[in-house]
Amino acid sequence: MAYDSGNIFAKIIRGEIPCDKVYEDEHVLAFNDINPQTPTHILVIPKGAYISYDDFSQKASDGEVAALVRAAGKIARDAGLDANGYRILANTGRDAHQEVPHFHLHIFAGKNLGRMIKPADK
Ligand code: AMP
Repeated sequence: MAYDSGNIFAKIIRGEIPCDKVYEDEHVLAFNDINPQTPTHILVIPKGAYISYDDFSQKASDGEVAALVRAAGKIARDAGLDANGYRILANTGRDAHQEVPHFHLHIFAGKNLGRMIKPADK
């Protein structure tokens, strides 16, 4: 599957549509989710054209990988989320219901997030 440069996050990176930015560096952009699922819901994305976690983990440079991981930690710390905790999640592909085909991390926080997967759902 080829990267679709018309996806919404590619447009945000190019500055064609706005975002509620919380962080930016050479390799990474982060912004508040437009439809937050928790009191704090931040999306952290690489600026490079990667479809998914699978794509990013294969093709990104070590510098890009390190930048994304370190940025996510810094964003959470700077927002004070390390005090009570947070959850990082990357939906990857169809079964995970990935909607936007540009790799992104979700940072969820601001309330008790419950267990990751309900025992009944296993
Ligand atoms: P996923 O299902 O993991 O692909 O999640 C995509 C996320 O992108 C959803 O939580 C959407 O609410 C969010 N989203 C879609 N469009 C925008 C946008 N323009 N700005 C911020 N977040 C967005």
